[in-house]
Amino acid sequence: QTALDIETIRKDFPILNRKVNGKPLVYLDNAATSQTPQQVIDVIVDYYQNYNANIHRGVHSLSQEATDAYEAARIKIQKHYNIAKTHEVILTSGTTHSINLVANGFTSFVKKGDEILVSAMEHHSNIVPWQMLCERTGAILKVIPMNQNGELVMEAFHDLLSDKTKMVFCNHVSNALGTVNPIKEIIEASHKVGAAVLVDGAQAAPHIKADMQALDVDFYTVSAHKVCGPTGVGMLYGKEEWLNKLPPYQGGGEMIAEVTFEKTTYADLPHKFEAGTPNICGGIAFGAALDYMNSIGFDAIAQYEEELLQYATAQLLAIDGLKIYGTAKNKTSVISFNIDGIHPYDIGTILDKLGIAVRTGHHCAQPIMDFYKIPGTVRASFSFYNTKEEVDVLVEGVKRARNMLL
Ligand code: PMP
Repeated sequence: QTALDIETIRKDFPILNRKVNGKPLVYLDNAATSQTPQQVIDVIVDYYQNYNANIHRGVHSLSQEATDAYEAARIKIQKHYNIAKTHEVILTSGTTHSINLVANGFTSFVKKGDEILVSAMEHHSNIVPWQMLCERTGAILKVIPMNQNGELVMEAFHDLLSDKTKMVFCNHVSNALGTVNPIKEIIEASHKVGAAVLVDGAQAAPHIKADMQALDVDFYTVSAHKVCGPTGVGMLYGKEEWLNKLPPYQGGGEMIAEVTFEKTTYADLPHKFEAGTPNICGGIAFGAALDYMNSIGFDAIAQYEEELLQYATAQLLAIDGLKIYGTAKNKTSVISFNIDGIHPYDIGTILDKLGIAVRTGHHCAQPIMDFYKIPGTVRASFSFYNTKEEVDVLVEGVKRARNMLL
């Protein structure tokens, strides 16, 4: 039985009280974005009510207060991910920004004929920037294949690695299937051939507290909105030696040491990568969101979500014609499914009428859909604030949709 007091936790989330189409909201689209607890909403309101100011440059008190809160958030993120140095935490607008920053910077390190490996189960945001890098440089993109269970074929990965491999990109957890990838093995093997590794941690963030030093990963990316924080803010972790080598991504204020029309010198880390006024309130709220999640505890969250996953999987599989995609041994609380003969969009539309929010479509991971030869899936993704009763509502809803559509 779970150690979490779910009823009390749910009271932290005002949105969970609302109705959708006259029915109580059952929010099962947590992999797309998580909901925001009152504790984080309060931090956002407090910022705008009491100390909204631009940071780093002001001598006045409000600016100092905002700067202190923003930099305190950076330290919270550093501690959460066990990052060695505070300036290895770059605050970005989210995972997509983080990945583009690195992909752009690698233009100077990659040449024609070099190889870049991506996994077969990446989000588009971890495919397209590397394709663009290959177009710019003549490097070759190679794909680490996956099997029918939605697991990476690790023998094939090891075979693909060579001294031509310059970079390897993989998500920690697949957003479309929930698979937890063996990133430690990927990082170790890649480093043996001298390749750098970027792990997209967007989907892992709400489920797994990743330890940057233990993983020894070169880059790791997170979006705050997946961990009960606001949209438009996230983290790029980079090892100091990489961040020092990488050129700045955007030019502007905040990221310079000195500017003349003849020559500009760049600011030290992390500011070199933080041009312009950042999402100040968002950064502070990101820190508050991690505080909130840690107050519940990642071990307890993982254990409870596993219970929800097992419960929902068993009930859904009992429905005639229902197939689950992504049956990896190690997976998070995401269930991607279809029912024979029914388009996922139609199921999603009926579920919405019943107040149930799921995602339908390719989940920004079209290559996975092509692999299974399907147009998309219905994806229910569970968070620690979901209940078994909500799973029951989902299962009843899916049965009803099936009866209506078949
Ligand atoms: N990678 C993965 C695995 C994701 O799930 C997402 C968000 N759906 C992203 C990257 C992109 O994150 P963002 O849209 O916050 O930049």
